[in-house]
Amino acid sequence: MTISMTPSTKISSINDDIKHNWTINEVNDLFNLPFNDLMFKAQTVHRQHFNANEVQVSTLLSIKTGACPEDCKYCSQSARYKTDIEKERLMEVEKVLEAAQKAKQMGSTRFCMGAAWRNPKARDMPYVLEMVKGVKELGLETCMTLGMLSEDQAHQLQSAGLDYYNHNLDTSPENYNNIITTRTFQDRLDTLDNVRSAGMKVCSGGIVGMGEGINDRASLLAQLANLKPQPESVPINMLVKMEGTPLSDVDDLDSFDFVRCIAVARIMMPKSHVRLSAGRSAMNEQMQAMCFLAGANSIFYGCKLLTAENPETNHDIALFEKLGINTETVFDNNNEQEVAKKLHTAALDKENEHLFYNAQ
Ligand code: SF4
Repeated sequence: MTISMTPSTKISSINDDIKHNWTINEVNDLFNLPFNDLMFKAQTVHRQHFNANEVQVSTLLSIKTGACPEDCKYCSQSARYKTDIEKERLMEVEKVLEAAQKAKQMGSTRFCMGAAWRNPKARDMPYVLEMVKGVKELGLETCMTLGMLSEDQAHQLQSAGLDYYNHNLDTSPENYNNIITTRTFQDRLDTLDNVRSAGMKVCSGGIVGMGEGINDRASLLAQLANLKPQPESVPINMLVKMEGTPLSDVDDLDSFDFVRCIAVARIMMPKSHVRLSAGRSAMNEQMQAMCFLAGANSIFYGCKLLTAENPETNHDIALFEKLGINTETVFDNNNEQEVAKKLHTAALDKENEHLFYNAQ
């Protein structure tokens, strides 16, 4: 089993001494704190459970792109909207493993594979399972997002070595039907249940900036925090407006409102990794730094997030250097040795993008 931790990171069961009965009013009270008080509280909670100067780094690869039958109104991969996404069939296992190897060399500790499906078909499962096994053998943590999962599929993935399954709640139950009609909120909870029951870790978060109200943000975070156990990984996405989708011209989210979401998520889910996820390419360095200060401690490396732009890896490295941030270490208990990908110094070489690792 691969466990992501650092010597200074206190990881314990995600479930103990954690509040799971948040009401929307309580969450709104956090949102309504003066900004500086909220940031102080979030940073205080963050330091109780994590090294405040470490960020976990994942890479996300789209292993099957476009032509999705679902109608998520933010998504350029839905077959229902006229977008300029180039559809791609399920990638060959070998190509996926090549990409995973590259991600590892660039400092990622987790490799996430996403497919634009309502749910995986039986014919796809053998390939998907091969991908999990292969990525795992490279010493990376594995994560997949393939849509809804049956109990049986969850068990197959777990047996192949899948560490995390990503399935976002997206938005509040109250706002849900404004965003997706082809699957219910309960369908999402059922998939998360199947993932948990199979023994995998849960990655689940949502998207803000889709025209939702403040109460919806509070309600989404309450849903996530009241899951028992709470998700180990909580991606907070800022909507990336994709041309051709129904949400392409929704009003911009105020930057401070986004940072508040990160801070409130950190306070409510103190032991989870809160991921600063989609939308980073629209954020300047100062805003990203503020998100780290608010308790975000996970990002995606790589210039694409499925189909949305993401900052170039070398920009991330430069920002980490400015902020004195290190990437989180991964220990691989399979090999009984540290996988040793701690990024002590990130530097740019003259010719390529260049990371220097200290193998330990
Ligand atoms: S978010 Fe996922 S399920 Fe929804 S349309 Fe896009 S690819 Fe399909």
